[in-house]
Amino acid sequence: MATERIAYVNGEMVPESEARISINDVGFLYGDAVFDTTRTFNGEIFRLTEHLDRFFRSLKYMRIDPGMTKQEMADVTMKVLEHNLTLRGENEDYWVSQRVSRGTRTPDGLSGPTVVMECFPLPFKQRAPLYRDGMQMVTPSIRRTPPEAQSPRAKVHNYVNIVQADLEVKAQNPDGIALMLDVNGNLCEGMGANIFIVRDGEIYTPREQFILAGISRSVAIELAHELAIPMHETDLDLFDAYTADEIFVTSTSYCIVPVASVNGTKPTHTGIPAPVTRRLMDAYAGLVDCDFEGQYLAHL
Ligand code: PMP
Repeated sequence: MATERIAYVNGEMVPESEARISINDVGFLYGDAVFDTTRTFNGEIFRLTEHLDRFFRSLKYMRIDPGMTKQEMADVTMKVLEHNLTLRGENEDYWVSQRVSRGTRTPDGLSGPTVVMECFPLPFKQRAPLYRDGMQMVTPSIRRTPPEAQSPRAKVHNYVNIVQADLEVKAQNPDGIALMLDVNGNLCEGMGANIFIVRDGEIYTPREQFILAGISRSVAIELAHELAIPMHETDLDLFDAYTADEIFVTSTSYCIVPVASVNGTKPTHTGIPAPVTRRLMDAYAGLVDCDFEGQYLAHL
């Protein structure tokens, strides 16, 4: 019986405590690496193909050759997950990630790439209050990295821009969660999550150009279509947030979480969740066959 999670590191399955990456790895030195993360629901992986498609787009953007095909990555991902499923706690699930750095520096140049696949338990306890109280979102002065500097559409290991945003928000409100604006002042994205607002029964979300287009964002868009709720991808700013009827965010791990306030201003519907958000959360739970909200709340 396994007692420790295992990870895949450069061709080998190793216990996490024995997994090693060089201090000369450029993922560590420069954030020069790419990743993607899906999650399990009741131990079953969600939309691996879509996540790997995005992963390979991020790799291509960063001009990193992982030295493996998408199918090979999928197979190893499933093997890593299978090994670790015996360690999944009751009512728990995993983040499941693929990570590739450009390699390890040597005096003769780079040897590489470094390829890692791993599972990590979702932070249910830490996040459970968000499903009861909603997120308190705060806009930091730090703006999301613009495409002119580094495309936010690629999921790269360098999260310092988002970390800075979070540090600034947490210094003002320890329960606050960053809602970043882009350099044009439009709503951009939360800390690893996409933002949606509801007004007059219709849903609005920022366009893809300035954000990481979440897989759960595309699920929310799909579900809105199925529920015949009009959905618009468009520029939004703080006026839209302050006057919204409802606000919610999506991410792979959150699925959908209601937002209680933006810079202290509450949406018109103060219910957590508000009615349109409720419909989407229920549809999401149906699609993934998991009461994700109940799963989080059970850890309160
Ligand atoms: N934006 C950023 C910056 C992210 O890192 C993520 C992933 N955590 C998201 C949005 C949401 O993407 P997904 O729905 O694929 O998790």
